Amino acid sequence: MTGKLDCLIVGGGPGGLTAAIYLARFRRTVLVVDEAKSRCAWIPTSHNHAGFMNGINGLDLLDRMRCQAEQYGARIETGSIQSLRCLDEAGFAATTESGGKLTAETVILATGVIDDQPRLPNLFDAVQRGLIRVCPICDAFEVIDKKVAVIGHGRDAMGEVLFIRGYTADLTLLTLGTPMNLTAEDRAKLSELGIRTVEEQVERVTEEGGRITKVILKSGEELDFDTLYSALGTLARCTLASQIGARMDDQGRLIVDSHCRTSVAGCFAAGDIVAGLNQISVAMGQAAIAATAVHNLLRRRDGMIPPDTDAPADPETKRSSDTTLAACTQPPETPEA
Ligand SMILES: Cc1cc2nc3c(=O)[nH]c(=O)nc-3n(C[C@H](O)[C@H](O)[C@H](O)COP(=O)(O)OP(=O)(O)OC[C@H]3O[C@@H](n4cnc5c(N)ncnc54)[C@H](O)[C@@H]3O)c2cc1C
Repeated sequence: MTGKLDCLIVGGGPGGLTAAIYLARFRRTVLVVDEAKSRCAWIPTSHNHAGFMNGINGLDLLDRMRCQAEQYGARIETGSIQSLRCLDEAGFAATTESGGKLTAETVILATGVIDDQPRLPNLFDAVQRGLIRVCPICDAFEVIDKKVAVIGHGRDAMGEVLFIRGYTADLTLLTLGTPMNLTAEDRAKLSELGIRTVEEQVERVTEEGGRITKVILKSGEELDFDTLYSALGTLARCTLASQIGARMDDQGRLIVDSHCRTSVAGCFAAGDIVAGLNQISVAMGQAAIAATAVHNLLRRRDGMIPPDTDAPADPETKRSSDTTLAACTQPPETPEA
């Protein structure tokens, strides 16, 4: 057991690492424990992350952020936090998969989500080459006027297809054998926009020369596409949040206030695990807010902010704004990215 940390950050994606950079620069003792399964590591080249004119590779971005955090004294360990509980006297106790025990005054959960990926061979490689994509908000610009299929069913998939329709008219919705789960009105809308729907199972996908050549259906019919988008949704990594009873939505995404506080005192959250838009810039912004709120919470506890005095972005004194929950929510018809 190490001494009590100022903050334990669970997750070392863009959210967790941004929080680590801020807290290390606030001269806090901070430890990031990361299973190293960031969604960011799947990004071949992000073209919408501000500041990188020619785009940036996801692993490269994570490496830069890790170096930046460590340069200021943040500790980053590869591992998994298996359990989290609130201590009677304030703060948290956590255990790692190797039996290690940690205590911390505060926790930032930046555990992210997992993509429900289609069962296709060489998936990581296909994502790296842009043959399979998961996030039209991120990269639909790269498929302008291409032949695109969206894998999914139900209203989420329909929302994604309609979003991509702004980039290409050559669109097919593939349900991989699952019933479409759409109303007659929704189906009519798709047909009116010239979007084909295929409810048959896919037998296999062939690829040649860096592009998907064919999707072969069970019936033997062969379809050609440049890119497949997966719209199968995501699974929130909310086990730790559940263990401490943090409030979440029906998808397991955390509800936070405008200071990125969860419903559990001392526990903050940032990134995809928070209900709202799944984007690097959102994860970073929430992490900056959460880290600053953590710092102010500890300063107030240490008597470094006089009672009844506002600190910049201080969650303790601006209670009136705290009723504004989920500052980063989005309309439901927007793909969740
Ligand atoms: C193919 C692809 C392309 C994308 N392209 C873009 C893009 O161009 N632009 C953009 O803005 N966004 C893009 N995104 C989305 C972006 O990757 C995410 O929004 C971003 O990574 C979220 O950061 P995060 O820190 O919340 O979560 P993550 O990056 O997923 O990191 C969470 C980390 O927490 C760890 N973790 C979880 N539970 C535990 C635990 N119990 N103990 C220890 N560690 C734990 C995980 O292993 C992981 O390393 C893309 C996503 C994908 C999959």
